[in-house]
Amino acid sequence: MKLKHHSIIAAVSLIVILAGLNGCGERAEQPVAHETPTDPAGEAPAAAVEVNPFFETWETPFGIPPFDRIRDEHYKPAFERGIEELRTEIAAIRDNPEPPTFENTVEALQVAGRSLTRVADTFGNVNNTDTNDFLQELDVEMTPRLTRERDAIYMDEKIFARVDALFGQRETLGLDDQAMRLLELTHLDFVRRGAALDEASRERMKEINARLSELTTVFGQNLLKETNGFELVITDAAGLAGLPDNMIGSARAKAEAKGLADGWVFGLDRGTFEGFMTYADNRELREQMYQGYRARGGQGGDMDNRDELSEIAFLRAEAARLMGYENHAAYQMEKNMAKTPETAEAFLLEVWKPGLDRAEQELAEMQRIVQDEGHEFLIEGHDWWYYAEKLRQQKYALNDKELKPYFELSNVRQGAFYVAQRLFGVTFEPLDGVPVWNEVVKPYAVYGPDREFLGVYMADDYARESKRGGAWMSTYRDASNIDGWDIRPIVTNNLNLAVPAEGEPTLLTYNQVETVFHEFGHALHGLLTKARYPRFSGTAGSPRDFVEFPSQFMEHYATEPEVLAIYARHAETGEVIPQELVGKVRAARTHNQGFKTTEYIAASLLDLKWHDLAPDQAAAVEDVAEYENEVLAAYGKPSIIETRYRSPYFAHIFAGGYSAGYYAYLWSEILDADGFTAFKASGDIFNPELARRLKANVYEAGASRDADVLYRDFRGQEPTIEPLLEIRGLN
Ligand SMILES: [Zn+2]
Repeated sequence: MKLKHHSIIAAVSLIVILAGLNGCGERAEQPVAHETPTDPAGEAPAAAVEVNPFFETWETPFGIPPFDRIRDEHYKPAFERGIEELRTEIAAIRDNPEPPTFENTVEALQVAGRSLTRVADTFGNVNNTDTNDFLQELDVEMTPRLTRERDAIYMDEKIFARVDALFGQRETLGLDDQAMRLLELTHLDFVRRGAALDEASRERMKEINARLSELTTVFGQNLLKETNGFELVITDAAGLAGLPDNMIGSARAKAEAKGLADGWVFGLDRGTFEGFMTYADNRELREQMYQGYRARGGQGGDMDNRDELSEIAFLRAEAARLMGYENHAAYQMEKNMAKTPETAEAFLLEVWKPGLDRAEQELAEMQRIVQDEGHEFLIEGHDWWYYAEKLRQQKYALNDKELKPYFELSNVRQGAFYVAQRLFGVTFEPLDGVPVWNEVVKPYAVYGPDREFLGVYMADDYARESKRGGAWMSTYRDASNIDGWDIRPIVTNNLNLAVPAEGEPTLLTYNQVETVFHEFGHALHGLLTKARYPRFSGTAGSPRDFVEFPSQFMEHYATEPEVLAIYARHAETGEVIPQELVGKVRAARTHNQGFKTTEYIAASLLDLKWHDLAPDQAAAVEDVAEYENEVLAAYGKPSIIETRYRSPYFAHIFAGGYSAGYYAYLWSEILDADGFTAFKASGDIFNPELARRLKANVYEAGASRDADVLYRDFRGQEPTIEPLLEIRGLN
């Protein structure tokens, strides 16, 4: 199985702020003017007479943000007003003369700052997909300010006193399960954010938090610039040998966009990188790509991330100590299924050794191919993908070029819709004429089995320079059902597929097919939620090491013959993928798993080792690369397999919310492997009874109960690790 670097991006929403998750300040472009035009006659600026859409109720279909009317300069005044409104609402909670009640305190905190949430969600998402200098500057300005607003709430003695009083009498308040959980978690959020600290410590925490939000924002921005800053320009067509036509077409289009009369340009987005490493026959060019990829953020200059990440590690360690935890990892892990860093590490090491052993076999098999080709060289890091593909062809007579015509994007998405329909009775209907943030976006209305409206699903599939890398799910609006509001979510899936040449279909590799299913699984988790409070809605409040379960679970369906028969149709002829090819796809699933397991666990261990440091240990790290090497050598990582991310471009942990949490994908895989195995064992991958329990206890439940309870209620028993090892072929 699959290791995905994609994630759930929480926009800088207040819900997220209140939930204590980390927003991911990152880039993104809005093709509109940046300057506010001023009338030369000295009259009011044109923008001043125009209505800011954030100051209105949105009358758009389903309340989708009016992207066609939102201009870059609307965000800041909307943030300002939203912050003012939040402060007024928070003051009303704090200074309420009535004694605290669940409604006037805990629930009121849940719903405070709605207009700020609306602008922060819109901004956060657009800044991720269509950024520009103007938006990036605003991000750098606003992220620390929002952090300060959040801290002001969580370190407010009077508010905490009200929450604490309610917490003390919680058994007598007559709360139902969800309300009780909201009270308990709200109390915990306050404690974990420093409400119970003395004043000096609280002040220091505020400084640390403000600085951390600056640093993580800059880290992400530097990384985007470093990624865009590299281009491999090929002018001699001989350098293209081995590459698939669609990659060549995209590279030519990219060259044209850059005004090059001839030649081909390859960038470092993950899809292009992996494609190039897999197919390019020219070993030297592969090495250039490989070195370019690994150098990002750590090669000196203005975009170097090493100082930022060292300071981040130090400040996180200091904050954890202030809060009474051993280290940042211990702090983070408290709310996860794993509970402690030691448990997470022990689990990773349980899979690490079988992965290394398998990788060693893979290397030996690939080296034989090199010899058979009559070469002398030993395989190096930049050879792995290329020879892994050759080995796959040799062992399974399967290559991606043969498969790709069957994996056309819109067909693949129909396959994912089919699975949702069969499992959960959910249908997706394309929407026309609704506002979108970019013309490539495809919007859908989503309905349940009784045609009840569940939410809006919006897919943004293509890479562009204004978009952050990777694939992710996010929300423009979270679900909420306080007082029967029945607010349904607006969910997005983002991919970074290369734009095909004019008139060509978008063809995916099998890996990309899995990514479509993966992000779609997150989307379902967001769309199906029935939790009453936004704090528990779908992906929003789920522990990191549980939240990848609903997404990875969906990946299993992509290789099921019944599902392939639906979506894997030849892009030109419409012919369903031949059974023989299906057999090969399934046989090849464990191929290269030694490598994939090793590069992923290496990155997970590195993450843990940046975050289990005491402050003085973190301060003592002088050379980032040296520290990385020491850590990884201690675990016995072979140098030929690069960690999935080196620290200076490890955005998950230094610019996103996955610090001390990158292990979570593999942890969640215990659940998805075990859960899917239950369906398989029943003889029906759409087993209605299992599907009903899965829907009720996972996709609809969101975070309204503890993750281990949710899983047990679905499965009827504890998960075991064997299915994971089995599916990866590591047993
Ligand atoms: Zn994911």
